[in-house]
Amino acid sequence: MTKTIAILGSTGSIGTQALSIAARHADIRVSALTCRSNIQLLEQQVRQFHPAVAAVLDEQAAADLKVRLSDLPVRVLAGMEGLEEAAVLEENDMVLTAFVGMIGIRPTIAAIEAGKDIALANKETLVTAGHLIMPLAKRKKVRILPVDSEHSAIFQSMEERNRACVEKLLLTASGGPFRGMHRQQLQQVRPADALAHPNWSMGSKITIDSATLVNKALEVMEASWLFEVPQEKIEILVHPQSIIHSMVQYADGAVIAQLGMPDMKLPIQYALFYPERKALDGARVDFCALGSLSFERPDLETFRGLQLGLDAGRQGGSMPVVFNAANEAAVAAFLAEKISFPGIWELIERAMKAHAVLPEPSLEEILNIEQEIRIKIEEWLK
Ligand code: NAD
Ligand code: MG
Repeated sequence: MTKTIAILGSTGSIGTQALSIAARHADIRVSALTCRSNIQLLEQQVRQFHPAVAAVLDEQAAADLKVRLSDLPVRVLAGMEGLEEAAVLEENDMVLTAFVGMIGIRPTIAAIEAGKDIALANKETLVTAGHLIMPLAKRKKVRILPVDSEHSAIFQSMEERNRACVEKLLLTASGGPFRGMHRQQLQQVRPADALAHPNWSMGSKITIDSATLVNKALEVMEASWLFEVPQEKIEILVHPQSIIHSMVQYADGAVIAQLGMPDMKLPIQYALFYPERKALDGARVDFCALGSLSFERPDLETFRGLQLGLDAGRQGGSMPVVFNAANEAAVAAFLAEKISFPGIWELIERAMKAHAVLPEPSLEEILNIEQEIRIKIEEWLK
């Protein structure tokens, strides 16, 4: 059966890998391609995949794309409304949310409202609005299929009939490029060092999040929402080889894991075709060549951003919004070489300390808090 998908963020790392999968499977049709501003790549993608809709967040870039694509019957849409329209197209069976950041909240909610299944890569959306998204998905009978490799691994290891017997989730982390370093050493780190991830090739924001370990805090919150497991039952395990992608431990002591080479195409493809498993080319795990797999506890003292994220998750309400929004602004400042690497979690901590938690923030409150934090951080950096 043909599956029709819209991709939010088709020009990014996840988006382009999803399209390389779509190119190899005649039973996937692409209905909409969207991005923030990279219209050069979006134009190429439209010419290759012939979607009905192309949507660009940046209005000027959208106008330029319209001119470039005037020889094709594609509808070019602009702004947040354009993204929402792309997400709710009648023909969509599924929406892949591959935007980076909280910008993905509105179109994701629109897609769920319209009853579209979600292949979820955009974890920031769930971290900040999980309390709105998960009940809505339940009400609309929409499936939220994880694309994040750890969450896909947990999903693949989860025995549906034994959900009540889950003792804990073991969330693995590579430890990033600075594993084993001390606070002083981290002070010297530059963007280029942080962008060199040992095992995964990803977009720049998540690569920095992997280096600070903030990514793992976001993933703990993401897992807690997706699998309805409280944060205390989620353990982070540093596993530098990135072969075990995460595990589920049951009440009888059994641990079920999903293993594979670190390649995002597998979790992306698994979500797109779920419940079917399809062939995928690529390297296979050679256990003898690996020799051993190792594990250690995360260093919460040195990597303070992880500790702050766990605190934010425990406090709940609007605190994860503050944690996430401050991190997004701080990562941008670090990439622009305005702050040091530890400066990222220093800004997050300052933002969290200045915030009084709202218990169940509405969508409007979430978006307002994000704006406030962004402005505050800009002021602090002046
Ligand atoms: P990326 O930076 O490579 O791509 C981001 C995409 O989002 C682009 O298409 C871009 O046009 C769009 N976008 C929309 N608004 C944007 C904005 N304000 N700033 C920048 N880009 C914007 O990101 P990615 O690595 O593909 O990650 C996408 C999402 O998937 C993130 O939430 C990330 O945490 C998650 N994820 C990624 C990977 C990975 O391997 N890349 C793995 C697990 C989870
Ligand atoms: Mg991950």
